[in-house]
Amino acid sequence: MSLLPEELDILGMKIKVVNEEILEKDEVYGDWDGPNLTIRVDSTGTTDQQLVTLLHEVIHVIDEFCHLRLTHQNVYLVSQLIFVFLKENPKLLPLFLKESV
Ligand SMILES: [Zn+2]
Repeated sequence: MSLLPEELDILGMKIKVVNEEILEKDEVYGDWDGPNLTIRVDSTGTTDQQLVTLLHEVIHVIDEFCHLRLTHQNVYLVSQLIFVFLKENPKLLPLFLKESV
């Protein structure tokens, strides 16, 4: 069963998320297919591994469409840092679900 949502809204685009075992993996736990607007995340890792991989691929999407020209090291670091930030500040997450006032 897929852990992740089947679709994400990023920069106003519908990005498909395929959460399945990546058979051809070789240190690859996810990838971003720009022409097909599709992120793939390997489904065999832990929940945290899948979430950090999803974040990593989302940063790739933002990098590509905003022409940030991040290095892969930057993409890796930013996704790891956001992941740790969210994990260390759990009281913040429910606020994103509240209606704006
Ligand atoms: Zn990457």
